[in-house]
Amino acid sequence: MRTRRCAALATALLVALPLLTGCGGGSEASGSGLRVVTSFYPLQYVVQRIAGERAEVANLTQAGKEPHDIELSVRQTAELGDADLVVYEKDFQAAVDDAVEQSDPDHVVEAGAAAGLEGDDPHFWLDPTRLAKVATSVEAQLADVDPAHADEFAANLKALDADLTSLDRSLSQGLSDCRVDTIVVSHDAFGYLGKRYGLDVVGINGLSPDAEPSPAHIRELQGLIRDAGITTVFSEELVSRKLADSLAGDLGIRTAVLDPIEGLSDATADEDYLSLMRANLRALQKGNRCT
Ligand SMILES: [Zn+2]
Repeated sequence: MRTRRCAALATALLVALPLLTGCGGGSEASGSGLRVVTSFYPLQYVVQRIAGERAEVANLTQAGKEPHDIELSVRQTAELGDADLVVYEKDFQAAVDDAVEQSDPDHVVEAGAAAGLEGDDPHFWLDPTRLAKVATSVEAQLADVDPAHADEFAANLKALDADLTSLDRSLSQGLSDCRVDTIVVSHDAFGYLGKRYGLDVVGINGLSPDAEPSPAHIRELQGLIRDAGITTVFSEELVSRKLADSLAGDLGIRTAVLDPIEGLSDATADEDYLSLMRANLRALQKGNRCT
């Protein structure tokens, strides 16, 4: 039930990923570079950082689609088979799993295995040290596919690693001394982040996000919010804002945005993984009163 876990909350999410390739058609496909297919934004970000100019990256989750429930065209499935490298996460997007199985690409990075997933939470990228592990696997595959540019990929990996290490340090330091160590979130996507940085994460929808939370669960949350001294409830940009707002409103507390970074939206089109994670850090520091 990995995909169902946040599917309901994500249903309303309109992800507007930049159309860097792909759907515009093959008009740009005549370049001599590598062709890489990724399945959603954080994977696309990693490939673009490491491959740089050497690859065209087609991201399967396109504008207006939320990542869990995408469907692929016959052409996209064929593209997978033709790609020099496919980077995806198993059990996160069922259509992609099927397409990978059908097209059987030569070079694949399965991000969940690379990241060392534990349990059924797919949102590993919210822990930058796990995204760094995926980056290492991506670099190894790119060097295998295009050994002439292996040095370039290695240098790009080093730069990305430095950025992710710096981000990890900022998160560790920034969240080390907070008045509140519990976060209440509308989208149960922050387990890896909480685990890495010592935050207890409570989902508004608990473990059954398909349904509205029961009155009993709401009462339980309200008790927890009072007991833990929580003054902020977190929701993502577009999903379940209403629910978080009403819960916060009942208790006279505020809401703030915490972005699960499953894709870029119109509002975050100019951001990237690093800037969104730093925005998340600022929101957490403010909401949990960290010094
Ligand atoms: Zn999710």
